[in-house]
Amino acid sequence: MQRWSLLIDGRRIETDRFQDVLNPSTGAVVGGMPLAAASDLDAAVAAASRAFEIWKDRPDSEHADACRAIADTIEQHAEELARLLTLEQGKPLNGLGSRFEIGGAVAWTRHTSGLSLPVEVLQDGAEGRVELHRKPIGVVGSITPWNWPVMIACWHIIPAIRAGNTVIIKPSPLTPLSTIRLVELINEKLPPGVVNVVTGDNEIGSLMSAHPGIGKVTFTGSTATGRKIMQNAAGSLKRLTLELGGNDAGIVLADADPKKIVEGLFWGAFINGGQTCAALKRLYVHDSLYDELCRELAAYAKQIVVGDGLSETSTLGPVQNRRQFEIVSAFVDEARKKGGRVLVGGDPSDGPGYFYPVTLVADVDHGCRLVDEEQFGPALPIIRYSDVEDAIAKANASAMGLGGSVWGTDLARAKAVAQRIESGSVWINKHGAIQPNAPFGGVKQSGFGVEFGVDGLKEFTTVQTVFV
Ligand code: NAD
Repeated sequence: MQRWSLLIDGRRIETDRFQDVLNPSTGAVVGGMPLAAASDLDAAVAAASRAFEIWKDRPDSEHADACRAIADTIEQHAEELARLLTLEQGKPLNGLGSRFEIGGAVAWTRHTSGLSLPVEVLQDGAEGRVELHRKPIGVVGSITPWNWPVMIACWHIIPAIRAGNTVIIKPSPLTPLSTIRLVELINEKLPPGVVNVVTGDNEIGSLMSAHPGIGKVTFTGSTATGRKIMQNAAGSLKRLTLELGGNDAGIVLADADPKKIVEGLFWGAFINGGQTCAALKRLYVHDSLYDELCRELAAYAKQIVVGDGLSETSTLGPVQNRRQFEIVSAFVDEARKKGGRVLVGGDPSDGPGYFYPVTLVADVDHGCRLVDEEQFGPALPIIRYSDVEDAIAKANASAMGLGGSVWGTDLARAKAVAQRIESGSVWINKHGAIQPNAPFGGVKQSGFGVEFGVDGLKEFTTVQTVFV
């Protein structure tokens, strides 16, 4: 079993202690994650602070070139990264799995390298000149989850360094190895200390959130952890971007065509086995096509191959970890007890691995956890409605507000309904289709701040207004 190292100031740092990283398909140990001590974090902050003094003043073109070179190296190592990702995360190599994720990391990195934040001249006349400058913040702490670890690492690291900051990333202890490897590759293209990786338990994340040497934390993960980070960051008034949980609703209008939308609905919900922040997590379907759409979805679901991610024929992998597996199992069991009708799935095998079948639960409503909370797994509740006003009210009856979608043939009507959903993104006839040039973020308790595009890049800067 390979024991991995931290990477601080461009050098591999050995630790005394390790934690096993498990393959969710088999339970086998994939590698040893180094358990950093608080002193390792301090060393990383010191290195990133030193590097910042140099990196921030490098020409903008050098920042852009470095990001482009990183995109190239990720692309050159795509298969190696994809296999490591599958081993620790579980997602299949194929379909919307590891190869897709690494391809996304390359696309986002390349797009972000081409963005810039030139000086804006707000006024230039007899009464003087006023310029708006964007300056890097300093050392950025990045804390990432286990569902899309490589892509999210790039969403954090690349705009941060593109804008002239330096970074310490702490990946989830469930999927740290692909991030360590990613940071090793990134370091071949950057001066030492610009990007560092410190792995360990959740306590390292707490220490980062409170660390006076870190100017901003960019966090993707659960709402509960987001709250803790905000509390810990208050002492030093850190800048924060919080991309938190979601419980996205989709509303199928009466004029939708079940056959045409079934594939988009399915993958909107089951991408990465439902372990996706902006996946479709509650589906509201008009009474007039409810039964037909349930039949179509069930037929589509039955041809999905759930299996070991390393098998080229698997289209979905296992749930990533035991805790999430138990949440999904408990939610489906409760929905069934409360009258939910399981159309497909619902009965997981005993293992090995955390395999949970693709599960569709019809005839459920609010008042059960599968609808009211984030399941973050391969189980979709399908709720019947007859008045679209009720569907909109129920879609908005959530503390979350990440994404939402509306499905129908009259696009103007679908758009009008979509704009009434309280969420940071809404899609018509698709769900969760994010792209690097469009800002993405949550409202309500799904967080604040946005990622991607120029708006996302601005989040890694402060404004300095220069009055000449
Ligand atoms: P999590 O909150 O349990 O963990 C995320 C990260 O936070 C991990 O690296 C973890 O070690 C760290 N952490 C845990 N406690 C901490 C603390 N007290 N202080 C600082 N860091 C701490 O989330 P998860 O289970 O890894 O991910 C699933 C959640 O992430 C879901 O709710 C999902 O919706 C959300 N998510 C959101 C987005 C988005 O863009 N909005 C994207 C992906 C995932």
